[in-house]
Amino acid sequence: MTDAKALAGRVALVTGGSRGIGLAIARLLAEDGASVVVSGRDSGRLDAAAKELEALGGPVLAVVADAAKREDADRLVAAARERFGRIDVLVNNAGITRDQLLVRMKDDDWDQVVDTNLRGVFLMTRAVAKVMMRQKSGRIINISSTAGAMGNAGQVNYSAAKAGVIGLTKAAARELAHWNILVNVVAPGLIDTDMAASIPAEAREALLQQVPLRRMGAAREIAEVVRFLAGDGAAYITGQSIHVNGGLYM
Ligand code: NDP
Repeated sequence: MTDAKALAGRVALVTGGSRGIGLAIARLLAEDGASVVVSGRDSGRLDAAAKELEALGGPVLAVVADAAKREDADRLVAAARERFGRIDVLVNNAGITRDQLLVRMKDDDWDQVVDTNLRGVFLMTRAVAKVMMRQKSGRIINISSTAGAMGNAGQVNYSAAKAGVIGLTKAAARELAHWNILVNVVAPGLIDTDMAASIPAEAREALLQQVPLRRMGAAREIAEVVRFLAGDGAAYITGQSIHVNGGLYM
């Protein structure tokens, strides 16, 4: 039974796996038989997520780590290797927003968002790529955003970071192809999580009006695409951005 699972024997590391899209991704990868490593800043939330994931039957490692800090990224990767010996799938999902109009945006709003959403992806990708190069295989899936492709008013920091993730992904895909490491982006639109709940209701409604499918997406609908990119069926896909947004951006 276990052997029949698509990701049996593989190890997946999901940053920001304690809630929202990251938890949904960890859940589906665990359902497919992967051992999962999840990270986040808040230990209470992370423990609750780890318990939920353990209930699916596979091994789970939860590590409190801030995606924006190099020491934490290195410690997270070392912990994953120590426990499981390898890393087959990295999902760079941890992300934050600090929305403000451009002319009112504080330096700190810029720095925090770019550090977490872009520098964090660089730090984790660099650390995990070394592991995957030795394995001569791996999948790296970076969670960007519709905002990174089309921009979003009130989010110059977030849009810049998420566009940066797309550029990083393409460059890394070219560099790492030699080692059979595939690097792709999944770019969600408006997805029903704590992050989307923090958008003022009026602004959220206005955004929804621009979504042809006229509803928010579910975290699971992003996770399904990540699951596909992590699996054997996606072996010839690299450097791509897959948009999952109900048609908001085409
Ligand atoms: P949530 O705010 O619901 O969850 C974010 C997750 O990331 C939490 O697990 C959080 O845990 C973790 N996290 C945040 N900052 C850090 C950090 N510095 N280090 C480690 N973990 C961190 O967000 P979503 O699930 O909605 O978003 C997930 C990803 O999807 C993000 O990259 C986001 O930008 C992207 N996205 C989301 C969209 C949406 O509409 N929801 C749309 C487009 C993209 P903790 O707080 O405990 O650290």
